[in-house]
Amino acid sequence: MQEPPAANDAAVTEPIAARPDVAVVVVAAGSGQRVGDDGPPKQYRAIGGRAVLTRTLARFAASPLVGRIVTVIHPDHRGLYDQAAAGIGKLTAPVEGAANRQGSVRAGLEALAATPPDLVLIHDAARPFISEGLMIRLVASLAETPAVLAAVPVVDTLKRTSRAGLVTGTVDRDGLWAAQTPQGFRFDLIYAAHARAAAAGRDDFTDDAAVADWAGTPVAVVMGDPANTKITTADDLVHADRRARMEDTAIAGDVRVGTGYDVHAFAPGDRVILCGVPIPSVQTLAGHSDADVALHALTDAILGALGDGDIGAHFPPSDPRWKGCDSAVFVRDALARLKARGGVLSHADISIIAEAPKIAPHRETMRARLAQLLGVTLDRVGIKATTNEKLGFVGRREGIAAIATATVRLPWA
Ligand code: MG
Repeated sequence: MQEPPAANDAAVTEPIAARPDVAVVVVAAGSGQRVGDDGPPKQYRAIGGRAVLTRTLARFAASPLVGRIVTVIHPDHRGLYDQAAAGIGKLTAPVEGAANRQGSVRAGLEALAATPPDLVLIHDAARPFISEGLMIRLVASLAETPAVLAAVPVVDTLKRTSRAGLVTGTVDRDGLWAAQTPQGFRFDLIYAAHARAAAAGRDDFTDDAAVADWAGTPVAVVMGDPANTKITTADDLVHADRRARMEDTAIAGDVRVGTGYDVHAFAPGDRVILCGVPIPSVQTLAGHSDADVALHALTDAILGALGDGDIGAHFPPSDPRWKGCDSAVFVRDALARLKARGGVLSHADISIIAEAPKIAPHRETMRARLAQLLGVTLDRVGIKATTNEKLGFVGRREGIAAIATATVRLPWA
């Protein structure tokens, strides 16, 4: 009678689907103390204004290849994780890691096992520059080989030294590769290999390719990416921060400036609202909403930069919903349209043209309010006021005009 094939061989011969279900395990359970100081572990440090883990997760979430992502975290870092993961798609509930990397990966695989994917990419959170190209190469290679490892050829000449630091020889670098993550596997194989390693009392594997190799699964090298570096030291963090900023600038390099103009007439009353700030006045401004002429001009400026209509198109004055409405609603809507297109607001500048009331005493309050509304620092908000030298409708104190510009950055389409 013929022996049944070993579990590994059976899985190897089973063809994977043309569009395989790919899951990702991101290992973020380490305490990462080599970056020094007493700050949070490296995966939660900000580079270019966002946590390393946030950037890593966002890269996978953005790839059409990836179906779901499970993050393995340290039990003490739940709060940090929740902050870092906020708003990122495809995430399943995080799982708690173990005392070592191998145990943490196993916990991540365990979390996927109830609905096993075809393939799994296992990745260290501290490599935030993972490219989609590398994900594609790994997944494509998994159609041929059950286990793959991203790695780059060693280019530096390698020296062996004595304890005293004296060179005792040159290591032949032929056939030597520096291992990276992701490492990719047929899910069933690596899940079984980890279970076997744990059952055998082995907990000393430093990567998953080694676990697969130990379990008898052939592992192929896939050309990694020299840019897919790992953050280990404080120096690495500094470099990663610089690079993240440069990449973000290159990505959101479509800089646009929009302008807006609005006028509201005076009506009987005792205050006007400008940039959300009530200012005592001998008259009020007439309008369907709260008549905040400054925020209306700014809303149009943002919409103008997006090429997305104007305030009247999105909020028709005929609609009773906007009667007496806080004009911050209109600004927030424009910002949401900006965000939906992956954009950010760099700067807003408003000029208010009025003979009265005096704006200067309220200017800093208005700037602070506007910065808060726009979610930017104070230096990104300009508010200026001028009279109209008694000329025209403004000069005759019939109303207030406002001109705004908004500078936004969008990703190149
Ligand atoms: Mg208006």
